[in-house]
Amino acid sequence: MKIELVNTGSELMLGRVLNTHQQWLCRRLADLGHVVTRQVAVADSANAIQNAVREALTRAELVITTGGLGPTSDDITRELIAELLCKKLVKNQAVQAHIENFFARRGRPQPAKTDVETFVPEGAEVFLNATGTAPGLAMRVEADGSKQAPPSAIIKPPSPRWLVMLPGPPRELRPMFDEFVMPLIRREFAGEIFICRTLLTTGIGESRVQEMVEADLQPLVRRGLEVGYCARPGAVDVRLVARGPAAERLAGEAEVVVQKKLGESIFGRDDAEMEQVVVALLAQKKKTLALAESCTGGLIASRLTDVPGASEVFLGGVVSYANAAKEKFLGVRSETLAAHGAVSEAVAREMALGARGKFGSDFAIAVTGIAGPAGGTPEKPVGTVFIALASAAGVKVNQFLNGWDRVTFKQVTATQALDWLRQTLSAVVVRSKAE
Ligand code: ATP
Ligand code: MG
Repeated sequence: MKIELVNTGSELMLGRVLNTHQQWLCRRLADLGHVVTRQVAVADSANAIQNAVREALTRAELVITTGGLGPTSDDITRELIAELLCKKLVKNQAVQAHIENFFARRGRPQPAKTDVETFVPEGAEVFLNATGTAPGLAMRVEADGSKQAPPSAIIKPPSPRWLVMLPGPPRELRPMFDEFVMPLIRREFAGEIFICRTLLTTGIGESRVQEMVEADLQPLVRRGLEVGYCARPGAVDVRLVARGPAAERLAGEAEVVVQKKLGESIFGRDDAEMEQVVVALLAQKKKTLALAESCTGGLIASRLTDVPGASEVFLGGVVSYANAAKEKFLGVRSETLAAHGAVSEAVAREMALGARGKFGSDFAIAVTGIAGPAGGTPEKPVGTVFIALASAAGVKVNQFLNGWDRVTFKQVTATQALDWLRQTLSAVVVRSKAE
């Protein structure tokens, strides 16, 4: 089945809003066993919207539009599509009652402009908006020559199609898609068995990852496996896609191959984040963590505290950016700073020991580095980072070179620090199992 998305909104074309619908809808559809064949974003202009929808309907059995269902002057999708399909807009009492109720519950009068939202194309299925006012709409577009097709319709597809219109705001579109569009798709289109498994790796570059698994995956590729690689700051995803009745088995075999080849470098699968994995491991091992962050500016703490349950394992951290802060709050010695400089193995070591001592944690991570663009020297170029990990077993320091822009540098450094702790904790798990 061919599916096309048409995202409308001038704000998308002006770069004011990130088009998250593309990703979210593709992901949901893939989970249902359908892969989107084409997606396009267009401005809020009558020509652009009508042309995009008309073209999409010539190719795809399912077309989903987003945006432009609201009450303001730039919300024109509903009217344009009704015109394209030669459908009258008729007052819908259920929508009227829903909107009245929406404003009554909030103790506000219903704005006169919302009246347009109560008019829907004749014959459309209506999706009441659980988190807003404008309803979503679905219409069956009849094939050319069919008795139901209006003779004057501008669009005459070769076979029947479905056109689904969803509102722009993500908090409205997402629940509506799950409640109404998923059942519609299940009802109208049989999905193919489709399995997409993503193994998340860190510490190895994209091309090296491919080199390591390519040959062993070849026989599975010949049986229909699709393999993809996606590099992100500090991580490379290996995507394994299989379709059809043998999909589960093929994906399973592929996963075993990748696990065997990449082993420890795999920190999780699918939507896992490094910080989630680390918090889960700390909780499982009943260990606590403290931080001493210089060049990451609190990013490691921020990422950890994104994870529900972090309070069980994360005690706190010091963002010690200035030398004076490293001395005052972590007990780094001024002689160490003077002798080695703030970005050094010795200072990283003292920061980690200081954090572990002050917070009384099982583990402490310290990071100190040169984010750039200035401040590099021939011995310590921009991107140099020292990461220290302190535990009851002592303190170890590793040196990395992360020559990226400042934001990427912070992301990559934070991931390296967390991954080191992950590997340490996983090793502890393995050892205690063997004992
Ligand atoms: P409203 O009733 O809020 O006007 P609408 O259905 O008319 O809803 P739009 O006006 O097109 O939708 O978009 C409303 C808001 O939804 C936009 O300002 C934007 O913040 C968000 N939005 C729209 N399209 C997208 C998209 N593709 N990805 C992410 N956000 C979007
Ligand atoms: Mg709008």
